Amino acid sequence: MSKVTAEVVVVGGGPVGLTAAVALAGAGIETVLVAMPVAAADNRTTALLASSVTALDTLDVWERCEDHAAPLKRMRLVDDTARLLRAPEVCFDAAEIGLPAFGYNIENRHLLAALEARARHIPSLRLIAAKAETVTVGDSHIVVSLSDGHGVVAARLAIGADGRRSVCRKAAGIETESRRYPQTALTYNLAHARPHNDTSTEFHTASGPFTLVPLPGQRSSLVFVVDPAEGPRIGTLAGAELAEEIERRSHSLLGKVAVEAGPGVFPLGSEIARRFGQSRIVLVGEAAHVMPPIGAQGLNLGLRDAATIGELAAAARRDGADLGADELTSRYEHMRRADVTSRSLAVDLLNRSLLSGFLPLQGARGFGLYLLDQIGPLRRAVMREGVAPAASQPRLMRGEAL
Ligand SMILES: Cc1cc2nc3c(=O)[nH]c(=O)nc-3n(C[C@H](O)[C@H](O)[C@H](O)COP(=O)(O)OP(=O)(O)OC[C@H]3O[C@@H](n4cnc5c(N)ncnc54)[C@H](O)[C@@H]3O)c2cc1C
Repeated sequence: MSKVTAEVVVVGGGPVGLTAAVALAGAGIETVLVAMPVAAADNRTTALLASSVTALDTLDVWERCEDHAAPLKRMRLVDDTARLLRAPEVCFDAAEIGLPAFGYNIENRHLLAALEARARHIPSLRLIAAKAETVTVGDSHIVVSLSDGHGVVAARLAIGADGRRSVCRKAAGIETESRRYPQTALTYNLAHARPHNDTSTEFHTASGPFTLVPLPGQRSSLVFVVDPAEGPRIGTLAGAELAEEIERRSHSLLGKVAVEAGPGVFPLGSEIARRFGQSRIVLVGEAAHVMPPIGAQGLNLGLRDAATIGELAAAARRDGADLGADELTSRYEHMRRADVTSRSLAVDLLNRSLLSGFLPLQGARGFGLYLLDQIGPLRRAVMREGVAPAASQPRLMRGEAL
């Protein structure tokens, strides 16, 4: 059986695993990326915050996909609940904090293609198209055995970027805390008659957000959160019927719509690992945290995970330290916990305040949005924090190489 030895093995070739592999190998660390061939096309889009775009730019990835991305210059929140206590409409404008855009929306397939193209050009990165069958923790190494006779990879540190059912998380003996929500997210890409004016619009409805996010040209992506009662009915709509339903729900904001092929269905839930690193394994992306697609947090958090482990590994290597030592995995846990917990709580609270029929909670949400609408300095502080969280800005997010 063939054996490959590296300093670090990354398991999982989604956007977070690829970013971690590019970051580490770009810093000269001998890295192997074990990436299972993709089973189905990912038609979702991702709203990348400005700091994530800075990181991708620093890694020479952004130039390979920026033509496929649309700027998000304005974000509108519209209360569409028809309840007694309704929040005022709030519009955030990136120009108010001196930015050209809060971030960019891009189809995942273009982002993945750019990351893969960059990965192929880094000499210290070896790509293996296989499944990690088992991950075994040893005293001085992690050993990953691969499918289809690809042999094994031994490394000092494993980065688990292997998504929700992570084998790395299991190998490290890490439990998760999970929560199901009584909602499903339906995703569509649309062409439309009227321009979006680089503005994303989030209608807050009693079953969850209905969010339109610009794509290049007269196209947008839609994340449509529905409750279980209406999910099956909407899920079976197609063609003109579906287009009319979407146009009606969006109050004809974008005029006539045409729905593109490849809708997605995602039951809503959250799952957070109790630890993000131990036993020579660190968890990044959805192996560490899954959250509902509300407020565009998931992948942005995952990219900060990748940037953080890249920074810690590069520093450990410069010091001649063991890259899988407890010191590094504990430090990673410490550096990522507050960011993940605070984002997860914020998403949970916003979602619950929409679902709840409890008047004081609806009132609190409305009052919070009223304050944001009225108080300029508060609004600008919230916008700055959203784009670049003060407490968690790894070097790559600041545009600095590792
Ligand atoms: C509807 C929806 C909309 C979203 N919109 C946004 C948004 O606008 N902004 C945002 O920031 N986030 C968004 N997210 C979240 C974002 O999509 C996720 O955070 C992101 O896809 C997670 O990437 P990942 O690389 O961690 O996981 P994945 O994309 O799941 O990748 C994991 C990879 O690991 C591979 N793998 C698994 N097991 C093995 C194994 N044993 N061996 C080898 N490979 C393995 C899989 O094949 C896969 O390629 C959204 C999510 C949803 C559901």
